[in-house]
Amino acid sequence: MAQCKGRYADQELTFTNGREFYTEKRCSRKALDGELCKRCEKNEKIPFDPRHQLEQFQGKVGEEYFKKSVLYGSPWFLKKVERDNYEIAKDVLAIAKQAQRDAIYGTQMPRKKKEETPAAAPAPVPEVKPEVKPEVNPEVKPKKPRAPRKKKEETPTPPPPPAPEPTAPIAVESAEEPLEALEVIKISVTLKTINGKQVWYDSKKSKVYELKKDKSVGKYLGRFDSAEDKIADFPDSDVDV
Ligand SMILES: [Zn+2]
Repeated sequence: MAQCKGRYADQELTFTNGREFYTEKRCSRKALDGELCKRCEKNEKIPFDPRHQLEQFQGKVGEEYFKKSVLYGSPWFLKKVERDNYEIAKDVLAIAKQAQRDAIYGTQMPRKKKEETPAAAPAPVPEVKPEVKPEVNPEVKPKKPRAPRKKKEETPTPPPPPAPEPTAPIAVESAEEPLEALEVIKISVTLKTINGKQVWYDSKKSKVYELKKDKSVGKYLGRFDSAEDKIADFPDSDVDV
């Protein structure tokens, strides 16, 4: 059985100017009849929202990247390198390239997993497991290896332009949308019941998000008013910036 081709964001890396981009990883499950596992087939149906893309299905490995994806090799990434002259340290570039190769060639296939034992029941999808990483404080997250900013002047050699893998055709389109709209918002949410309704809750900012049927994080609903146990209408400050 072949490995699922679902593609997701993985490791956070940065350009030399500090802006982030992400490596990709391949779903480690087994594909069903098609090229995706059961979970990815479900995830594929969820509309891609660039703001929540760190938890979202990003197409299949080897295929074109979504236009607003912040993965290495995406149209957005290439624009940053080619048009805005963003630079990447060599070691950082190597990490991203390796991740892309690993994803395409599928070296992440697990060996002995529970799922390999033929069972009558399909692999259970954890009920409460949210698509977002629960309770991972972005601030506490250890910084991934990044290019020290000061080195920029000491090493004037610009990194070679990232050559996209031949299996990943990339179309660079003209920018008709502002790239600034691509800020990815990292939030930590937990399930919460407010006034009898289950929602995703960002306790740090008291923000409430819709709990979609597929358990993913939906749209922003407002702030949690703990005194009234209700969702107060409140403009999303993250959007306004
Ligand atoms: Zn999958």
